Amino acid sequence: MKRIIVNRYKCAYCGACVSVCKFDANELVETYLEIYPEKCTLCMACVKTCPMGALEVVE
Ligand code: SF4
Ligand code: SF4
Repeated sequence: MKRIIVNRYKCAYCGACVSVCKFDANELVETYLEIYPEKCTLCMACVKTCPMGALEVVE
């Protein structure tokens, strides 16, 4: 199953990916970006928006 993962070393916790997610599938929790695979539709909006290239799709 495909899912989005965040590279914690690249992520700047800017919240841009949270702003563009229409499915409430991600959230900034303190200093960590949480992604909820059960809500994620793999629309890729967050991946395209991230200025740090910190998000990617994995199997
Ligand atoms: S791929 Fe789409 S649905 Fe999934 S977390 Fe990113 S913006 Fe939200
Ligand atoms: S847009 Fe990228 S850098 Fe910003 S919080 Fe999301 S994953 Fe981190």
